[in-house]
Formats: sequence, structure tokens, C-alpha cells
Amino acid sequence: MSSVKLDTLIIGGGIAGLWILDRQVERGRSAGLLEAQSLGEGQSISAQGILHGGTKYSLSGLVPTGAREVSAMPKRWTESLTGTRSPNLSGARVRTPECHLWRTDSVRSIVGMVGAKVGLAVTPTVIEPENRPAVLRSCPGDVALLPEQVIEMPSVLETLRSMHEDRLVHGTVGAISKDRSDGYEVTATTSDGASLIIHTSRIVLAAGRGNEALLAMIQGRNPSRITRPDMQLRPLHMGMVRGPEDALPELNGHCVDGGQTRVTITSSTAEDGSRVWQLGGRLAEDGCSRSEDDQRRESKACLDAVLPDFDSKSPALEWATYRIDRAELKTRRWARPDGAFVSASEDIITVWPTKMVLAPNAAEKVDALICPNAEDQDVQSLPFRGHPTPDVARPPWETARWS
Ligand SMILES: Cc1cc2nc3c(=O)[nH]c(=O)nc-3n(C[C@H](O)[C@H](O)[C@H](O)COP(=O)(O)OP(=O)(O)OC[C@H]3O[C@@H](n4cnc5c(N)ncnc54)[C@H](O)[C@@H]3O)c2cc1C
Repeated sequence: MSSVKLDTLIIGGGIAGLWILDRQVERGRSAGLLEAQSLGEGQSISAQGILHGGTKYSLSGLVPTGAREVSAMPKRWTESLTGTRSPNLSGARVRTPECHLWRTDSVRSIVGMVGAKVGLAVTPTVIEPENRPAVLRSCPGDVALLPEQVIEMPSVLETLRSMHEDRLVHGTVGAISKDRSDGYEVTATTSDGASLIIHTSRIVLAAGRGNEALLAMIQGRNPSRITRPDMQLRPLHMGMVRGPEDALPELNGHCVDGGQTRVTITSSTAEDGSRVWQLGGRLAEDGCSRSEDDQRRESKACLDAVLPDFDSKSPALEWATYRIDRAELKTRRWARPDGAFVSASEDIITVWPTKMVLAPNAAEKVDALICPNAEDQDVQSLPFRGHPTPDVARPPWETARWS
């Protein structure tokens, strides 16, 4: 059995955990991250990768507090994506620097576009009809460009993984208890079957939906001392279509209908070279009660309605769906939380970033909770060197059932 000692143990290696790890290392702390499955398994690898700047909120005309936090994020991500600020994500792929925004021809959707124009840090610019991509040529009304970047999530996770390889360990938590020095002792089993004891001054729970079970495990040992934030799940049933590039052109953007995004389309390239569209927005929210077959049919019908120039009946296309729950802080009446949630009880910090784009904000909030002089001297800077390292999760289009 081996043991390591560090300042901060992060449990869960999605975008939040990895960004927090990088921030802690940048601050000179000994930090390590334990991942039970693959990095980003669950939400981060399934995300569409849009670096929202708040326009989505403004579509409804309501600008919650969280929208202000979001509005600072595109600039923050650009600093990392251009390598001018840590984490250096210049090795990650940006799918597109901007998204398209268009509407269906209902009266309500015109109101939606007006709502978008009163937006926040990023505002749409209407493009001339001759500059529209072919697939949006016959769309009624305006087509606009929105300076929202779309990033390739697998490459972002891989860049963070390779940067911090010796600080990552692949394993499962068996028990968490207080140790004699008033820190925590975490008993884990690594993926090669070895036992590992981790002594840490604090624990950051960044395990997405896994936070609930981890909090229950910790509270079981310290019932009176730990306050446990409650979690809620927000389900999605996403659509996907894949095919050759001539049948499925590159497209990233939102079709607006009333105060909502009727569908959000993002493009990726699969391992076999085919193009994939992920279909989110209201299509995915309303799709939770549909069967897979019904959601495939609804995806086709939705694209027929919002993209008059797209041939959804092309035999070159295949269709699939995937279900995924977003994990977030429980709110009254199931409202969407405002911004990233970070809270501490003793030295247990719980994080739900709410959106991938808010990961830098979550990392700053975690940092603000840590006393600058609270570090132990006798800690390891590369705590998990020589232990098994987690891989990056496979994106949903590589594991889906296509037909
Ligand atoms: C379909 C979809 C599309 C989205 N699109 C966008 C978008 O375009 N833009 C945007 O900003 N946001 C988007 N989001 C939201 C975004 O994906 C999430 O807010 C974000 O990825 C959450 O990251 P996380 O690190 O908290 O959680 P996760 O990505 O879920 O990571 C949690 C990690 O913890 C690990 N884990 C779980 N339990 C344990 C345990 N007991 N021990 C160790 N490890 C554990 C998991 O394996 C996983 O790797 C989208 C979400 C979904 C579902």
C-alpha cells in the first residue's frame, strides 16, 4: 500500500475538476485529482462546446445574475485558448470562432431575435444574404453571426490531461475520514487494483452527479459537522446525425423561436472522418419523454422545419440519440442556478459549474475559499507519478447506436 500527501485533492476530472487542478498548481499548491472512470465522462464530453457569452439568457429578455458571470467568460477562455493565460489550451481545437443565429418564420421568433439584440458582451451581427452558408440560404428573415466560439471538448480535456498527467490518478474512493492532523484521509483503490492512502488538507468535490454520493459518504462519517448542498438533475435527450461532408455541411449555431433556442447545432468530425451534428436546445429538453426512435424522427422533423435547404432524407445520413443529465445545485422550483456553484463546509468544497464555460469562474471561487497561508510543507508536487492515469472519455458519437 502506498501513500501520498498533498494540499488539495480534487475528486472528479470533468472540465471543472481539471480547471481547478490547474489553478491550484498555478497558485503553488500541491494538488492532485482522482477520477473514477474517464476524464469528462458524463457531462463534459457530451457538451456541445459553446462558449456562451450570455446571449442565450437575453433571448428570453431576462438577464439573471449568472448572465453577468457568463459574460466575462468568452474573454477568459480566449486568453487560455491563445496561450496567454493558464491553463495554456493553445493545443486544443476551436471548431469555429462564431455561431450563426437564425429564426423560423413564426411571429414569436422575430421577438426572440429582438431579445437577442439587447444581449450582453456578445451581440449578433446580421449578415448579407449572399454571405450566408448554403444550408441557411433560404431561411426566412435575418441570419446573424454571433461571436461565440465552439471548442472541441475531447481536445480540451486531452490538453489538460497531458499537462497534468503526474497529478492525475485513475481509481475509486473507498472511504473518507478525518486524519490526526485535522486534514482528511482518503482510502482509494487504483485501477490496477493497488491500495492508495491520500492525506490531504482539503477535498474539492467536482464529480458532477457523483458529488451526491461522495457527500453522503463524507456526511456518514461526520454527520453533525458537514453541511450538504442538495443536487438536482436536468435531463436532456440529444439528437445526432452523421454523414459525409457533402451531405452534412459544417454548421454551428442556434435557431431561435420565440424566447428559446428551438435547436442548437454543433459540428464535429468523427474518428472515421465523417461529420457529426449534435442537436441540442429545446429539441433535447422536450425529447426526454420520447423514445430513441421518436427522438430520431423528431430530430429529422425539426431540421426539416428550421433548415429548408437541408435534405434530411439523404440515404447518406445516419441518426442517433443520447441521454444525459446535467447536475447542478438544487434550487427552489427547479430554476436554473445563477452562475457556478461553489460552497465550503469545513475543508470540503463542493462544485457544480452549471455550464462548461463557467469552469474558470468555479476555479476562481474555489481559490477564494482557500486561506493563502494554509499550506503544509511536507507535500508532493507530482503526487500521482507512477500511478495509473485516467484516459479522456470517448465522445457520444463514437459510442452511439446509429441507424
Ligand atoms: C448535452 C450537453 C451539452 C452541453 N453543452 C454545453 C455548452 O455548449 N456550453 C456550456 O458552457 N455548457 C454546456 N453543457 C454543460 C456542461 O457540460 C457542464 O456544466 C459541465 O461539463 C460540468 O462539468 P463537471 O466537471 O462539473 O462535471 P462532469 O463533466 O460530469 O465531470 C464529472 C467527473 O467526475 C467523475 N466522477 C463522478 N463520480 C466520481 C467519483 N465518485 N470518484 C471520482 N470521480 C468521479 C466523472 O467520471 C466525471 O469525469 C452541456 C451539458 C450537456 C449535458
